[in-house]
Amino acid sequence: MLIELFPPNEVVRIKQMIPGDISDYYTWAFSNHGAYTVKTGFNVLVKAKSKPVNMIPPREQAQISLKKRVWKIPTLPKIRMFLWRVISGAVAVAERLNSRGLNVETRCKLCNGGSESINHVLFQCSMATQIWRDAAIVIHPDALSLQLEDNLKYIFDAMEDTRIAQVSRRKIPWVLWLIWKKRNSIIYGKTQRSIGQLLSDVEDEVEQWFTVNKPTTQEQQVSNRALHCDRWLPPEPEFMKCNLHANWRNAHLHSGLAWITRDHQGNVAHHARDAITFAPNRFTAELRCVIWALQSLHDLGASKIIIASDYQEVIDAIKAPQQWPKFRSLLEEIRRLKEGFSAVIFEGEKTTANAIARDLAKSVLRDGRFQSYLALGGPSWLSERIAREHNGNDV
Ligand SMILES: [Zn+2]
Repeated sequence: MLIELFPPNEVVRIKQMIPGDISDYYTWAFSNHGAYTVKTGFNVLVKAKSKPVNMIPPREQAQISLKKRVWKIPTLPKIRMFLWRVISGAVAVAERLNSRGLNVETRCKLCNGGSESINHVLFQCSMATQIWRDAAIVIHPDALSLQLEDNLKYIFDAMEDTRIAQVSRRKIPWVLWLIWKKRNSIIYGKTQRSIGQLLSDVEDEVEQWFTVNKPTTQEQQVSNRALHCDRWLPPEPEFMKCNLHANWRNAHLHSGLAWITRDHQGNVAHHARDAITFAPNRFTAELRCVIWALQSLHDLGASKIIIASDYQEVIDAIKAPQQWPKFRSLLEEIRRLKEGFSAVIFEGEKTTANAIARDLAKSVLRDGRFQSYLALGGPSWLSERIAREHNGNDV
């Protein structure tokens, strides 16, 4: 893996590092979630170079936009990482090594037909074009004369083009990875398997990946239903719906947390409140609230639950944790807790639909109720409003 991804001098440095308990991952230091965004990328560039936004060279702009797309590609994390390194110019091909002062032969060892850039390896080399052809995927007709960014954009667009058969579109990232691995196995003299065999393995792997990562129809139904509804909606009959909220003020003060569960008729099962200290930001406080609610509901023996929060970005992060590396450990905890239920659905809720959980959380600090507690039914001071939401759903 190391020699596939890094130049030799970096391999030596990497091997000298002492590994920690948690595996390595990239975070982007200039956004609040730790993942790259075009906006923060722009800000950093503008600050660093003090030049107006419209003066960022088109090629750099293309790289920024490609890097943003990489994290959303439905594929294995190692392939996303590979593509990110491709765009960043961080893959050890001959041209790249030469530009770093290692004097290597730049001619492509596979086809003898051109200088070995990553663009050549993935889109121009005779080996690559054969793999694309055998995989029945059309690359840009002018691939040979285009720059890397244009070739990548074309193939990334193809992944989203619904006019192309799904089975072809889906395997594109795996094919890019396959071409790179095939190149390495030839250069490093490993045993060769035929392109046909390799592509057939890719197809199996792609099918498996999409089976495991496919959202269930139930999840899709519920999230469609909840989209932008102003008032609270009850769950499906078998589900318990848990509205929650963390009332965060600043990093040094307590945050009030609350959750309340209701069934398909709007009857309250339980509600709970707690206070936590030292959450560095509102995002962390809300994630800790989700973790606490999941632990409590598991202890109460709930099996099918909907977790509803009006913090849409938190819901997004739970659904796509790889795009929020900064919160990885909390998101991993949530993923682990999810396994204790037969179904968990995370729903974005409008603040108006989440008002009861919000008021419960605020009451922790307002009334100085720092003791954690769990109660059957709803609190009496909210009973009228709970009944209104209940009745609102009878009509
Ligand atoms: Zn070549």
